[in-house]
Amino acid sequence: MMSTTEPVEPKPEAARCPLCDSPLELPDECGKCDWVKGYRHRTTGSTPVDLTACLLSVVPGAGHYYKGHKVMCWMYLIGAGLAAFWCSLAATATMGLGLLMLPLYWAWVMTHAYWIDDLNAKEPAPKTPA
Ligand SMILES: [Zn+2]
Repeated sequence: MMSTTEPVEPKPEAARCPLCDSPLELPDECGKCDWVKGYRHRTTGSTPVDLTACLLSVVPGAGHYYKGHKVMCWMYLIGAGLAAFWCSLAATATMGLGLLMLPLYWAWVMTHAYWIDDLNAKEPAPKTPA
């Protein structure tokens, strides 16, 4: 005789839409409202703000200022001065090759401005204690 004490697989609770609370037919989108998986999660690099911030970062820090990171703006601006200084120092020892490091700094600043959160967005991120 077979045992009837087979472990019962815990039935996964029917997934419900976090917005309208109706059962989900598909795992990552709701048929009743426009909820999709990843709703309110950052979709990176898709907004015009990201692109604008990236382009503004031709002046290091301007993109960060544009997104509301005022302190970081100054840090990147000062950092650009230091980077230029160090790269020119390195350049004297490397027949100018050290100057090639400078675009790396710019690329980093622009990339960072592109990915960083927009503090001016309509839904501000929860404030973290300083
Ligand atoms: Zn829904």
